[in-house]
Amino acid sequence: MKFNEIFWKIKKFFLAEVLHRHYIRSGKCKGCGKCCQNIYVRHAKAVIADEEEFEYLKSLHYFYSYLKIVGKDEIGLIFECTKLNKKTGKCTAYNKRPILCRQYPLEEIFMMGGGISPECGYKFTPLKTFDEVLNQVKRR
Ligand code: SF4
Ligand code: SF4
Repeated sequence: MKFNEIFWKIKKFFLAEVLHRHYIRSGKCKGCGKCCQNIYVRHAKAVIADEEEFEYLKSLHYFYSYLKIVGKDEIGLIFECTKLNKKTGKCTAYNKRPILCRQYPLEEIFMMGGGISPECGYKFTPLKTFDEVLNQVKRR
């Protein structure tokens, strides 16, 4: 077995069995700024859907004060971050950006029913094939 194959197997095992991940993330940020505009924002277990709640949240964490409401639909409030320079796609609060932005994107987005922009430079590939998952289920 080649070194690359062994490395991949170890990495896959670590991600799936130790970190309990379902996807492997690859790629890098292209600085398109799509994840900072027209976004839903979650607090606790739900998407923020109420203006009053949003006003209250601003007093809890500085990140909420970065946000501006740009719309609302059946899912919740739609935001854009005022720290985004829309011309350059760059964050003007880069060194002060919250952990949420630093870690973006995480696979939890999919668990919450969301997704990443088609323009995003990151890609998520399932760690297990459909057949592997099916075999696991059959063995239970
Ligand atoms: S703080 Fe920066 S990275 Fe985070 S949403 Fe705002 S513009 Fe984007
Ligand atoms: S959508 Fe993806 S590529 Fe664009 S700024 Fe956000 S993380 Fe970077």
